[in-house]
Amino acid sequence: MTTATMMDVPLTIDQLIDRAERWMGDAEVVSRRPDRSLHRTTYRAIAQRARRLARALVGAKIRPGDRVATLMWNHAEHLEAYFGIPLAGGVTHTLNLRLHPDEIAYIANDAGDRILLVDDVLYPLYEKVVASGARFERVVVVGCARDQYEALLADAPDDAMLPTLAETDALGTCYTSGTTGKPKGVVYSHRSTMLHTIVMLSPDTLGLGRADTIMPVVPMFHVNAWGLPFAAAMTGAKLVFPGPYLDAASLLELLAGERVTIAAGVPTIWLGIREALDAAPGRYALAPGLRMVVGGSAAPEQLIRDFDRLGMTLLHAWGMTETSPIGLVSRVPPQLADADEALRYQLRAKQGVPPPLVDVVVRNEAGEVAHDDRTSGELLVRGPWVSGAYVGGHSPDRWTADGWFRTGDVARVDAYGIVQLTDRVADLIKSGGEWIASVELENALMGHPAVREAAVIGAPHPKWSERPIAVVVLKPGQTATTDELRAFLAVRFPKFWVPDAVELVEAIPRTSAGKFKKTELRDTYRQYFDSLA
Ligand code: ADP
Repeated sequence: MTTATMMDVPLTIDQLIDRAERWMGDAEVVSRRPDRSLHRTTYRAIAQRARRLARALVGAKIRPGDRVATLMWNHAEHLEAYFGIPLAGGVTHTLNLRLHPDEIAYIANDAGDRILLVDDVLYPLYEKVVASGARFERVVVVGCARDQYEALLADAPDDAMLPTLAETDALGTCYTSGTTGKPKGVVYSHRSTMLHTIVMLSPDTLGLGRADTIMPVVPMFHVNAWGLPFAAAMTGAKLVFPGPYLDAASLLELLAGERVTIAAGVPTIWLGIREALDAAPGRYALAPGLRMVVGGSAAPEQLIRDFDRLGMTLLHAWGMTETSPIGLVSRVPPQLADADEALRYQLRAKQGVPPPLVDVVVRNEAGEVAHDDRTSGELLVRGPWVSGAYVGGHSPDRWTADGWFRTGDVARVDAYGIVQLTDRVADLIKSGGEWIASVELENALMGHPAVREAAVIGAPHPKWSERPIAVVVLKPGQTATTDELRAFLAVRFPKFWVPDAVELVEAIPRTSAGKFKKTELRDTYRQYFDSLA
């Protein structure tokens, strides 16, 4: 018996690219090439080439569910792969080119990647990955002198039948960047991607629309460039890809030249941009009201303030590979639009509230914490674009018996219902039986006028079990003493939170996703307090 409700149309991403082609076909996709030139194409051409790629893959005997990997920068061909691989029933596996070749090989084998599309300029890396044991059946070089991709498209069989897609089919896979453990695979479905994409357009989340020009600085191998390529295709917004050039000058030139209205990247990217703008005021004619989505690690409040001063708006969001990634977005609630400036900045520096369809809860041993801005616990999340399991069933303990994913992040909630991350469970510092939240100390330090970046870690201590050490990079030409920085914290935090030591360094080690590499810092300072024993 049929019930008289609405049509049962599966949520599959072919609809995005078909619509972009048919109704917004002239909208531009701009990519910076390795020779620095700008390549321009349109959604119409992308759609046609993505379908050719799909037919070529079907011709190459890709079966539904097969993994097709990419080792590529952000550019138009990578966008073609984002659509072409799933159109063939395949699953796009975006490999993280910043990882060690051994790790890339492990991840490629764990995912079972059959075919690899690799940028010509990344071919030397590919050779190392193969030497490290990766087993691809076929490799296709994209671009420049060695190009094989154009031939693949040209030879695509016209009569290859593309499969009918179901919304529950897998469409892509990403691995966690392994900041706190071995990389684990997450598989996105058509449905999860479509729902995530729709919600990204809401003015309460990223507020993306057709009038935008979108530049994902975040790599397409880092949680699908946070979903921006799909969102751009859904709106028909112009897309700008920076290719391999992620230095501040190249990015600013592109932001200005292409009149980008919204860009996205990790805090380090925006730190560099802030410095470049301060060093050359008025040099870049940026689009008025340029928005920048920032996430991946905490956006320091000072950075948000500084960009307001520069006429640009940082929008802070939280997410994970496991959450597609949008899980929290920070916007000032309307009833506080005219509130005290200090409060508004504090709220914007928090991680925010969940978007529609995502549910979060902060729990400790006593259950859900009160929204008192004080009690902390672990952040749990669930929703249609939250992973239900890892590839290979690794770490099943990351899911609770009552259906939540454990993020491994420590958070608290304020009276406005805004979530603030205070640390990762793995990075918490235990001193004399009490916890110290490193992210809060870092944020405060980065509010000091002389500080560019700060990471706080715990080092083993004979008396207190662990004590915090702050590792600080000063802004160029600035000075600050250790005592001055400790005194700066002493007026803001309980006495026992103040780091025993502040180490001034040239640079803080980073992960492949641009986060502080705390595992390495902990190794460096492991014996710091040994002499006290
Ligand atoms: P990895 O777990 O290897 O770092 P992900 O890129 O999936 O890989 O990172 C997710 C984690 O990044 C989150 O669990 C959280 O700790 C951190 N993170 C992401 N966005 C933010 C943010 N806005 N503020 C603070 N931490 C963040």
